[in-house]
Amino acid sequence: MSTVYNWQLGRAMGYPYPQAAPKEQFAFVININRCIGCQTCTMACKSTWTFSKGQEHMWWTNVETKPYGGYPQHWDVKGLDLLGQANPDGLAWQGSPNGDTRRPYGELPGKTIFEAPEVVARSNQPNLVLGYLPTEEEWRSPNIHEDTPPGGLNRPMDFGRGEDATGENKHKAWFFYLARLCNHCSYPACLAACPRNAIYKRPEDGIVLIDQQECRGYRKCVEACPYKKSLYRGTTRTSEKCIACYPRIEGRDPESDGVPMETRCMAACIGQVRMQGLVRVDEDNAWVEDRYNPLYYLVHVAKVALPLYPQFGTEPNGYYVPPRWVPTRYLEQMFGPGVKQAVERYRAPDRELLAVLQLFRRSNRIIFRYQIEEGPKVWETTVGGKTFEMFNDTIIAFDRKNREIFRTQVEEPVHVRPDIHANSI
Ligand code: SF4
Ligand code: SF4
Ligand code: SF4
Repeated sequence: MSTVYNWQLGRAMGYPYPQAAPKEQFAFVININRCIGCQTCTMACKSTWTFSKGQEHMWWTNVETKPYGGYPQHWDVKGLDLLGQANPDGLAWQGSPNGDTRRPYGELPGKTIFEAPEVVARSNQPNLVLGYLPTEEEWRSPNIHEDTPPGGLNRPMDFGRGEDATGENKHKAWFFYLARLCNHCSYPACLAACPRNAIYKRPEDGIVLIDQQECRGYRKCVEACPYKKSLYRGTTRTSEKCIACYPRIEGRDPESDGVPMETRCMAACIGQVRMQGLVRVDEDNAWVEDRYNPLYYLVHVAKVALPLYPQFGTEPNGYYVPPRWVPTRYLEQMFGPGVKQAVERYRAPDRELLAVLQLFRRSNRIIFRYQIEEGPKVWETTVGGKTFEMFNDTIIAFDRKNREIFRTQVEEPVHVRPDIHANSI
């Protein structure tokens, strides 16, 4: 077992392979507050990569209704239960969210899935990662419990009891859509568990791929991935997973004009909730300061985007803006201790955050830098007892070659249809 550094946990941790880092890392931010559960992202991936025989059950990206939904069913409950068995005294964050990019959420001592593989006794091979293999039934209903809330009249499960003293902006009945895909983790559990060394992380962009020539379908990756984003295909007897639409990331898509382009599931998003990018990391996989990269800004400056279940220890590269209306304790289990701060900032965004939020889905090209041109103040109100001011700033996005991709404004322009076209489509 080697020692690697996990900045999301704020500490060094055990991992089967030595420390390594890519030149740039594939990453994405999903704003849960605006996801409408339309599944356009799901179908964009399906119709591009998993429409063949033997892939019928495969949804490399999926959108599930939390808290009850899950694909495969119960993936998070089962994973957290195993982690709980590995940490009988519980897992508790130490310190508090701060400005240190190497431990922004404080520190989480205790065992990750790499540090407690022995919790579950399996087969005659030594275990490298803590995990479980979902049953066939659990893969069958990708959108099970769609739009089903806890709480409400019959209160089947009140996750929010006893918290949020004021109860302000928290609903008694609630649910939210969690859009998921492979996190192209910095310390992938799938890769760590593969006895054939068939899984690799690309040094240029950190994308995690399964070599289909090498894979023999042992499903160790399916068992190990805590997010259950590696899937077995019976017709080829190999495992498959999200490939991060790598021809687009490489700028080889005919539409991309030679610069990195966002993936299919990101580009198709109707709700304009997804933004994907490439971030620079140091030799420990901590993010190198890149102040005007929108992903760096959302994760490390505004701190409104948080990693999904960082406690598993894989250092996932998918980040989420947590929903405003959901009990904090539920969200803290899912996204760590930064939730309260993130929700507060998102509820009443400052001038820069409001401008950066306009960047989502205005273009399919990956944004490497943004710039803001200040505009006039157009509105003022009070949010949660604090003054909120809105400025009609212009935000400009640049591609890898530092060329302007687009510019947009905080206030949406009003277009009046001329009389001559009043009835035309
Ligand atoms: S999400 Fe799962 S499949 Fe994807 S890189 Fe991480 S461990 Fe591997
Ligand atoms: S990045 Fe591409 S391959 Fe991965 S889930 Fe999205 S559409 Fe599918
Ligand atoms: S396309 Fe966008 S809005 Fe629709 S379900 Fe997917 S992430 Fe949500």
